[in-house]
Amino acid sequence: MAEYNFEELKKVAKASSEALEHSRSAVKDGRTLLEVAEEIESFIKNKGYALAFPVNISINEIAAHYTPGCDDTSVFEKGDVVKIDLGARKGFYLGDCAITIDLSEGKHEKMIHAAEEALEAATSLVKAGRRVCEIGREIESVSKKYGFIPVKNLGGHCIEEEELHASIFIPNYDNGDQTMLEEGQIISIEPFLTNGAGFVKETENVEIFQKGGDIRPRLPATREIVEYIDKNYLTYPFAMRWLERSFDGFKARRAISELLGGGVLEEFPVLVEEKGGIVVQAEKEFIVEKDSCTVLTH
Ligand code: MN
Ligand code: MN
Repeated sequence: MAEYNFEELKKVAKASSEALEHSRSAVKDGRTLLEVAEEIESFIKNKGYALAFPVNISINEIAAHYTPGCDDTSVFEKGDVVKIDLGARKGFYLGDCAITIDLSEGKHEKMIHAAEEALEAATSLVKAGRRVCEIGREIESVSKKYGFIPVKNLGGHCIEEEELHASIFIPNYDNGDQTMLEEGQIISIEPFLTNGAGFVKETENVEIFQKGGDIRPRLPATREIVEYIDKNYLTYPFAMRWLERSFDGFKARRAISELLGGGVLEEFPVLVEEKGGIVVQAEKEFIVEKDSCTVLTH
């Protein structure tokens, strides 16, 4: 296998950061989530990159995994707290970063600031040999200083080829996990803070899927869709919306059911805060170095 090319990874991360910066001007009250999602995804594609996963636009108590469907008419509203989580991809080099955009005219500014400060504080701890629970403890401590609660069942992760969420889990609190970061590891750290219970739960709504494993579908239309997924999305997450842009909606949904039935499709249900609390997020991607880290996304 070819040697891992950190320069390629840096380019992917830079494109991801630029898309995140673009989203700051794209997210405006009165605009639809659909037009903004497609604008951000086009921004990444126009730079010559694929998407590591569909842009997540998660508002208020929705913590993650929301991306609009084809006929989504929902609109950004004044008062919304908007998480944008995205990543560009080239080959198996993956970006992953997120910000929270405040449409609440300052009402939730403190929580957003706390998440950003928690991420900064965590960043200063990243180095080979650092235990993941120490990073979690730092995020929890900054959260509490501002009077917020870290979301305990969401967190950072290692980013490996073909797998966005690989091996290690980097908690947003001290969970006692003594796993150590290793030199050369690519990781993301993502404090999620809330004024709710501090846990997220899955909903029935699923817009994002990921194929793993092979299947020979019974229906020719499904076979065609499987070939399309294998060619365009490989084993990376994709949006139902993307399929519906290329195929008849009924056939696309039927194909998804068949693949789910065949056990070759992972679902990413929309996650909401357990008690309906507001959720904010900040996320960056890093390379773990011997004594510190390289921050890949800004
Ligand atoms: Mn992310
Ligand atoms: Mn992530």
